[in-house]
Amino acid sequence: MARDPKYDILFEPVQIGPVTAPNRFFQVPHCNSLGHGRPRAEAANRAIKAEGGWGVICTQEVEIHPSSEASPFIEGRLWDDRDIPQHRLMTDAVHEYGALAGIELCYPAIHAVNLYSRIAPMAPSAGVAHGSYPTHARAMSKRDIADLRRWHVDAARRSRQAGYDIVYLYAGHDMSLLQHFFKKQYNRRSDEYGGSLENRVRLTREIITDVKEAVGDTCAIAFRFATDELLGADGLRWESEGRDIVGMLAELPDLWDVNISGWGNDSSTARFEPNEGYQEEYTAFVKTLTSKPVVGVGRFTSADTMVSQIKRGVLDLIGAARPSIADPFLPRKIDEGRIEDIRECIGCNICVAQDMMAAPIRCTQNPTQGEEWKQGWHPEKIAAAASDDAVLVVGAGPAGLECALQLANRGYQVTLAEASQSLGGRINRESELPGMSSYTRVRDYREFQLSQKANVDIYLENRLTAEDVIALEIPHVLVATGSHWRNDGCGRTHAFPIAGIDSVRALTPDDILAGADISGRVLIYDDDHYFMGSTLAERLRAQGHEVCLLTPESVVAEWTKNTLEQSKIQARLLELDVDIVTSHAICEVRPGEATIANVYSDRLRRVLEFDTLLMVTSRDPDDNLFQSLQAYQDSLQTLRAIGDCNAPGTVAAAVYDGHSAARDLESQQDVYAPLFVREIPALD
Ligand code: ADP
Ligand code: SF4
Repeated sequence: MARDPKYDILFEPVQIGPVTAPNRFFQVPHCNSLGHGRPRAEAANRAIKAEGGWGVICTQEVEIHPSSEASPFIEGRLWDDRDIPQHRLMTDAVHEYGALAGIELCYPAIHAVNLYSRIAPMAPSAGVAHGSYPTHARAMSKRDIADLRRWHVDAARRSRQAGYDIVYLYAGHDMSLLQHFFKKQYNRRSDEYGGSLENRVRLTREIITDVKEAVGDTCAIAFRFATDELLGADGLRWESEGRDIVGMLAELPDLWDVNISGWGNDSSTARFEPNEGYQEEYTAFVKTLTSKPVVGVGRFTSADTMVSQIKRGVLDLIGAARPSIADPFLPRKIDEGRIEDIRECIGCNICVAQDMMAAPIRCTQNPTQGEEWKQGWHPEKIAAAASDDAVLVVGAGPAGLECALQLANRGYQVTLAEASQSLGGRINRESELPGMSSYTRVRDYREFQLSQKANVDIYLENRLTAEDVIALEIPHVLVATGSHWRNDGCGRTHAFPIAGIDSVRALTPDDILAGADISGRVLIYDDDHYFMGSTLAERLRAQGHEVCLLTPESVVAEWTKNTLEQSKIQARLLELDVDIVTSHAICEVRPGEATIANVYSDRLRRVLEFDTLLMVTSRDPDDNLFQSLQAYQDSLQTLRAIGDCNAPGTVAAAVYDGHSAARDLESQQDVYAPLFVREIPALD
């Protein structure tokens, strides 16, 4: 199909200094934790997006000197010439598809405490480092400033040698020294680099100028700048100093890449920023102050919104990190008139969480993300079926839907049986929770794709027994029957049911989501630490219940630190007058009351009263069907439990498992095979 002419504007080339972007689709720098530790995986991860039509592909932040290195996080590294070849892998791969390659040079300063190099971090002024490391930074001397300028120039020269077209200087996310110089909190200098805004901007001006002189004849120089920190008077604000900085440097860089700071604001989840283009109010002014092209982000997944951004003069280039992760082929799909094939990002930040845990990238919507090199997975291609056999998938949650879709893509005749009236499984229930509606995209994308397949038969309201399955005489059976929440308190803190639990009516999230009657004061016991406890608290508050959220962790929804949501969740619950009790576990329940003890001192006990007790602790697989089918192993060629039925986890894990099972079918490949394709450091 041809592209709709209303999207032509997105495919116009854009001049960026001495280079030309082939279109307006711009993958801004984003972490993937492949980086210098896994350079082949890194190159393949970026190349797939160039193949998918993104006109500019950037690295993640790239360390330029050992005096500021991101360990234990694995980002990019360009300390000296020996690092150039691994960057060549990336630039060559990206250039093969006609895209430009950009590198984000970064000096994280107090954001990195040099766990590998052990060099004391530097800062504009002396002070504590980020995080809770017991480390301070020393104040930079004039000599340090001269060194820093030289390191940037050296890194820019190496970037050019490595084949990059765009060299970024970085002042964002509260993760970069240049931004720290802007901020009065970090910059209390009395020399020409501190004090007035002009002075605080001096170092950035010098470094942009230095780098331009060094490589600006052939490379574009981009400046990534957070116009607002959403800290009110305690931070940079777009209306005041943010605006002034853009005004001062307006024509100096060849490209402005603008966003908001910190990372949790820039990469806000859909739970807290449900709309595309949520940064516009903070960044739209930039184009009024510069004639240079401007790129910005805002979880853009809709072509119409992208066009509107360009036509209204907000942006010149459509920046994307997460939308390019969820669908590396987004531009190609718009170009080919296949809008409905776009796999839209759901704004869950599972991708971010991986980076926060220093682990390779993964994505809820795109299970091939991060597996391009390791497993040779392509987001749009899959091996043809190995036989004409039929396949049965039981259960149509995220695992079953993805598995059925990929099996259909391979050409198998697929039967998908689902007990309930609709496809989606847990998505149908959980997307009803406050802030979770974007999860419907996981279901809707797959449901639509399946509806386009002639080789898929879907049977709703078909709860299959083992005998039903065997009677179908289908040789390959994948069981994706999901999981359910336990109501006895077992989980991380409690290996055994909580004392007295049988004496009360303990509900689970499944009960609430199925519409169970609840009354009065609700005690939520959250030993799960992800989104379920807090979203239920929000929902029950909205229904007018008094809610107490009790957790053995020291903060609510502890794991969501990784999705950059934890502080926002805690703030929201406090705002909603949810009573929060942390660092306590339930020791015993009786009708109407729970005795709780401090997790550090059993001596500190007290009683909480409740009318309804809601347990959010752990899940058990719904694997009865799978277990019953084991008796028929001999009459089946494939029997595999997938998704939550295999091991309850995230939606991302279920989608991945379903995808993986579809790829593995009849492959004879050992499930552990990918682990043997590794990047092993050379001993030279
Ligand atoms: P996952 O996250 O692993 O995909 P879900 O819990 O979202 O798991 O989905 C499991 C789906 O399986 C649900 O929609 C449920 O109705 C369905 N299901 C469970 N048991 C059966 C069965 N015996 N036959 C058909 N469908 C089933
Ligand atoms: Fe979007 Fe979630 Fe995928 Fe990240 S993991 S790209 S937020 S869908």
